Amino acid sequence: MLESAGARVRPVRRVAELAEVDGLVLPGGESTTMSRLLETFELLDPLRERIEAGMPAFGSCAGMILLARQVLDGRPDQRQLDGLDVVVRRNAFGRQVDSFEEDLDFAGLEGGPLPAVFIRAPWVEKAGDGVEILARVPDATAAPDAAARIVAVRQGPVLATAFHPELTGDERVHRLFVGMVRDA
Ligand code: GLN
Repeated sequence: MLESAGARVRPVRRVAELAEVDGLVLPGGESTTMSRLLETFELLDPLRERIEAGMPAFGSCAGMILLARQVLDGRPDQRQLDGLDVVVRRNAFGRQVDSFEEDLDFAGLEGGPLPAVFIRAPWVEKAGDGVEILARVPDATAAPDAAARIVAVRQGPVLATAFHPELTGDERVHRLFVGMVRDA
């Protein structure tokens, strides 16, 4: 997806590799495991420093959780990258079986609703003033008049989605992020 959006792509597993990239995608997966691996590979502090220095980053799902300043329903030893002034709730929509797809209105994306795949996804429970809210999804378990849940945000060079844009053929979120890297 990133390549077809015009980026040159490489995996980052080590500090030396981190130094070579202009932007970073933190993919989905399992945020407590990813947090532990970041510590094991001594990437947590270098990554925090790059993000603080303005490197564009895009987190999807578990990546969104890692980028947040605070996580609810996380593990006690789970570490945060503090790149987004948001509080996220882990596994907020329920268990693996409660995974779902939904077409979203995504602010600033032209071309109609964005198909979005949610897999044991978080939501943003609280967003600071500096955080742009890009997309929301209705919460099926909430009261009918409850506000829809925040599932995509941006704060300067940091973008995050609770869903997996790489699992559809729709490249618009990746194009948005590659554009942010180019601008930076
Ligand atoms: N539930 C996972 C977590 O807590 C995230 C799932 C995903 O990335 N699709 O990290």
